[in-house]
Amino acid sequence: MKKEDIVLLDGAVGTSLWAKTENKVAVWRYNIENPEIVLELAREYVDAGAQIVLANTFGANRIAVQGSGYTVQEVVSSGVRLAKQAADGRAKVALSAGPLPLLLEPYGDLTEEECYEAFDEQISAGVAEGPDIITLQTFMDIEMMKIAVKAASRHNLPIFCMMTFTEVGKTMMGNSVEDCVEELKDLPVTAIGINCSLGPEKAVPVLRQFRQYTDLPLLFKPNAGMPIQGSAGATEYDIEAFVEGCMPALDCDVKYIGGCCGSNPDYIRALKKRIWG
Ligand SMILES: [Zn+2]
Repeated sequence: MKKEDIVLLDGAVGTSLWAKTENKVAVWRYNIENPEIVLELAREYVDAGAQIVLANTFGANRIAVQGSGYTVQEVVSSGVRLAKQAADGRAKVALSAGPLPLLLEPYGDLTEEECYEAFDEQISAGVAEGPDIITLQTFMDIEMMKIAVKAASRHNLPIFCMMTFTEVGKTMMGNSVEDCVEELKDLPVTAIGINCSLGPEKAVPVLRQFRQYTDLPLLFKPNAGMPIQGSAGATEYDIEAFVEGCMPALDCDVKYIGGCCGSNPDYIRALKKRIWG
């Protein structure tokens, strides 16, 4: 991948929003209860150089939202609107959906139909606001990812799929990289890869496996890495170590690169500087 063809993503939404407020609630609530911080964070990512920003819609599915007094539709549409307002044509906006907080049968009680309906509701609500991309991320169960992709595929938008892996190179549900690629190969997936779970050094070998098993464009959005003790005793992460840890991803032909939990606009700015100077 030539450097000019690499696309810079944003960093964490959830942990970065929590850093902006004392009122640490489920982050989708901020779309309605504190939209200023949602707008501010997305603007900071665009200013840092992110070419695609995620809307704050990751966990806004009916299972999480029910009982809150809000509808999925209002939470998700507000999230996409705020991201579009922040991007203001300077970056693309991706609707974000994460896994449902329940396990599919036979490990849990969630049926395939209930799962599809929940994703269809969340994704359709977001698509109505005109995002550029649908991003499905932090999935641990490839079966649930397939259902989400099917719900996303009703809309004529690029679909980005990211699974999250443990140190042994499998998801919590035991899916290998090879399984993930194989299970998604007949579905309309635009790009595939890894997000969250591991810092860059441990995530790169997983990315390398993706390159081995697929020709699709690759996504890489690792966690910030291990926290270090800051000089004032506060928890900090080592931005330099993160950026250097990400560099081998370029040798794996990565197309889309950014950060996940613990990363913030400073990480994205540093990544931009390191890649493009
Ligand atoms: Zn994360």
